[in-house]
Amino acid sequence: MGVPPIAGSVARTACQAGIVRLSEPRSLSPTESAIVDALLAPDFDGASELRAQSAQTQVVGRCDCGCPTIDLAVTGNAPAAMHNASGPTPFEGIASDAQGQPIGDILLFVVDGYLSSLEYVSHAEPPPSDWPAAARVSLLGPLR
Ligand SMILES: [Zn+2]
Repeated sequence: MGVPPIAGSVARTACQAGIVRLSEPRSLSPTESAIVDALLAPDFDGASELRAQSAQTQVVGRCDCGCPTIDLAVTGNAPAAMHNASGPTPFEGIASDAQGQPIGDILLFVVDGYLSSLEYVSHAEPPPSDWPAAARVSLLGPLR
């Protein structure tokens, strides 16, 4: 099932594996939280709403392929963002290795105006099992 793209952007997904729902929702890890914060740091339409949502977001699923991709659910009452649009946020993260070589892309997806997933698109096979340190993530964008 794909995420409908916002007009003018292309929705990409991390991999073809399915999402496995967690038996118990969990909080974002410090690294996940730092990456989400970084992707929402620039100002764009909906950024303030998404920042408010990120403080009320839990992890409800993970990718079955072993990559760090996670499904998110906003649990509080933060307002919807981006006119209830669905698609990737305008800034994506570029993960680099210790030598500064790009090794993956990180995309934050919104569905109906709410944070929905944080996806890792690996350039390496097999993909890493964990997120890069936030310090190794730089921003690319705005992409639309
Ligand atoms: Zn995966």
